[in-house]
Amino acid sequence: MELIAGVIKSYDWGSRTTLAELTGRTAPSSTTEAEMWFGAHESAPSPLPESSGPATLVERIGTDPLASLGSQCRDAFGGRLPFLLKVLAVQRSLSLQAHPTEVQARAGYAGENRGGIPLDAAHRNYRDDRHKPELVVALEQFEALAGFRDVPATVDLLTAIDVPELAEDVALLAASPTPGKLKCVATRWLGLSSEYHTQVDDTVLKRTTALLASGGSVVDRFRAELSTASELARDYRGDRGVLMSLLLNRVTLAPGEGLYLPAGNLHAYLSGTAVEIMANSDNVLRGGLTTKHIDVAELSAILDFDPISVEVLRPHSSGVEYRYSTPAREFMLTRWELDHSTAYVVDNSGPSIVLCMSGDATIRHAGTTRSLHTGEALWVPAGETDLSFEADGPRAQLFVASVGKVSSELAA
Ligand SMILES: [Zn+2]
Repeated sequence: MELIAGVIKSYDWGSRTTLAELTGRTAPSSTTEAEMWFGAHESAPSPLPESSGPATLVERIGTDPLASLGSQCRDAFGGRLPFLLKVLAVQRSLSLQAHPTEVQARAGYAGENRGGIPLDAAHRNYRDDRHKPELVVALEQFEALAGFRDVPATVDLLTAIDVPELAEDVALLAASPTPGKLKCVATRWLGLSSEYHTQVDDTVLKRTTALLASGGSVVDRFRAELSTASELARDYRGDRGVLMSLLLNRVTLAPGEGLYLPAGNLHAYLSGTAVEIMANSDNVLRGGLTTKHIDVAELSAILDFDPISVEVLRPHSSGVEYRYSTPAREFMLTRWELDHSTAYVVDNSGPSIVLCMSGDATIRHAGTTRSLHTGEALWVPAGETDLSFEADGPRAQLFVASVGKVSSELAA
């Protein structure tokens, strides 16, 4: 095992304090730091600060894929580390987005290659040929929009807000609350001009502000939805994301709770700090709340318009290890809440990344001992099984990213 450094990504929705404080640097930072990546994505691989050989985790794995990944992981994922681990610091909402299935990603990537669109072009949708299921785990209260809400409830919300420009759409949904009609309305809204969105957003802002002030049963039922629409209409006037937010489930995660986002799920993170793990891909189709490239036609083509009720993912717990089970074969995430002086043995068969999010911890494998401080992470290559974890103080919190179902096959 060896230390890997996180790569900070500064985006306008990030925080000047969260990641700086986490990693022991002076806060506020000079830029709005949004994400810290740990992994082997080609665009921002983790540096290896202690290495005298390969400089990054991508190079380490490329030099010896078998020792790094083990044969099964190497063969299953084309010699690549299949997951990417991030810390997110969401100061204000980030782009409304969805991710493709594997089939869509392969077709989209090949199509853009045939069209001669450079891989680093700003208007490129597909930067690789892989899907990107994601799991976000809240470190503090975390707010998000995810998946289309049950249509009758959306009709109730839109009826209460009562925007004249949307009356025909509401009537259509009320008469026929089906995914097909929802798709008609959502794609129409995505296609409207920004002038039209600006006009409607002003009405949304006025009506939601008045509703929130008046109170009543509709406000009791939809307070978070109304507040979010009001904030977005103020901060993103004229953006498609304001109206789209009215169609999506509004989710609040408590610390430790997770949210799994499969392909086609339209989502946006609104605020909070979280650990996120995903398949190692950069394929994002955006629909609003961003200055980055938006491709409404491609987004509409990959969206899943079937309404869902959001299932907050609560981990299976032994009291020390908290395991977040998802269908993704690229990743598995566990959280370890260590208390003083007990060593816990971890069954770790495949490659993994151990990230310390609070306190200090000691990680042992065979004769090797490492201390890990808050904000630091270790790369553990395949085959370094029987790790043990111990807090170096009253408490420490670790996250362990590893390969999904393939790793249980490895252990068998
Ligand atoms: Zn996403």
